[in-house]
Amino acid sequence: MDKYLITTFGCQANMADSEKTSWVMENAGYKKAVDEKDLLSAKNPILIFNTCSVRQKAEDRIFGLNKKTELFKIQNSKLKIILTGCMMHYKEEELKERLPFFDHFVDIKNIDTLPKFIGHRNELKKTNVTTGLRSQSSGKILGRGESLIKRKTSKVSALIPISHGCDNFCTYCIVPLARGREISRPVEQILSDVKKAADGGAKEIWLLGQTVNSYKKTVNFADLLRLVNAIPGDFWIRFTSPHPKDFSDDLIKAMSECEKFAHYINLPVQSGNNTVLKRMGRPYTVARYKKLVKKIRQAMPDIAISTDVIVGFPGETRKQFEDTKKLFEEIKFDMAFLSEYSPRPKTAAAKAFKDDVPHKEKEKRKDEINEVLKKTSLENNKKLIGKTVKVLNGRTEGNKPIGIEGNQPKNKFALAKITKANTWSLKGKLL
Ligand code: SF4
Repeated sequence: MDKYLITTFGCQANMADSEKTSWVMENAGYKKAVDEKDLLSAKNPILIFNTCSVRQKAEDRIFGLNKKTELFKIQNSKLKIILTGCMMHYKEEELKERLPFFDHFVDIKNIDTLPKFIGHRNELKKTNVTTGLRSQSSGKILGRGESLIKRKTSKVSALIPISHGCDNFCTYCIVPLARGREISRPVEQILSDVKKAADGGAKEIWLLGQTVNSYKKTVNFADLLRLVNAIPGDFWIRFTSPHPKDFSDDLIKAMSECEKFAHYINLPVQSGNNTVLKRMGRPYTVARYKKLVKKIRQAMPDIAISTDVIVGFPGETRKQFEDTKKLFEEIKFDMAFLSEYSPRPKTAAAKAFKDDVPHKEKEKRKDEINEVLKKTSLENNKKLIGKTVKVLNGRTEGNKPIGIEGNQPKNKFALAKITKANTWSLKGKLL
């Protein structure tokens, strides 16, 4: 049996790319292995790493794979190891030099050519299927993010990229260098993907983009949301990640009007200090961010809000950091993704600023924010006790983990009454 296994690092955009890769492999006759042991017992095993370059830690994990990959090759000499994803875009030579047990380095844009790289006899079946990247009938590159027309999905959560790349060039971020400039997919393709996913049983549609709300094709993002909402079916719509600068009043209106929009949003703030925001290349002020949150909460009082923050940005003083803490106390986020600044090669911040906040201090700042977050998350969760919420597979509409007494039907919506609040999760009873 020919088998493959994919290890994915990074964000949901990478997960969506891994789904495409799975489709390519399965179309070429490979079966997904259950785990590494299952893979290594296959006749022709293919191990794929889809990489992320947003943080140094994710890159270090890839460069730390030599021992493991060498051992795998000893266990099955037919094993082929492939690297794809963001790291490919700016350090291909270094990767080839430092990862001797990897066989092929494939640009994710050309992932449909993978069967050729690995010399598989089936390659891709000759149909009119497009893989998102090139037409299989003409071989013409169509641009990133084309539809997997023949793909059927029964997945409960469907990840649907609506755009790729980013035009913002925040000074710390490698995404525009790794993924290129922003390209929005045609609206018809997105709607067709959503329809197929809903028909295939999806209950949660994630619209994905590096700055999802800067989507611009024949319609803007607010109208795209309305069009997705009009597709028949019982599913939640979620999106990530929006940029505060592109958050229009019309989008807030669309979110509150669309009954399928699940009341949860991740709204990255990155810092609670205007000087730091400016040095990060984030074109909004703290006051504007707060105003935006206020408007969103006025329109949808039950919405859960999370954010992203980078602590220890070059030059961030204790006082500037305290402003971020203060913002957390004021906004009372439900959740946050906290990271310590690490310089990414070739970015404006890495070139212009010294990484001068010591690692220990970065850790301390992260812990301090986490302490505030613990309090606000618990406070918010306690307000839900006694309320009835819609749940799906252990998560609420507000994207909070929930433990349910009684058997929650798998892959189906249910209603639960909240009986207990913990810091990061809820407990409830099925109704
Ligand atoms: S908006 Fe900024 S942080 Fe987000 S992907 Fe673009 S450059 Fe990176």
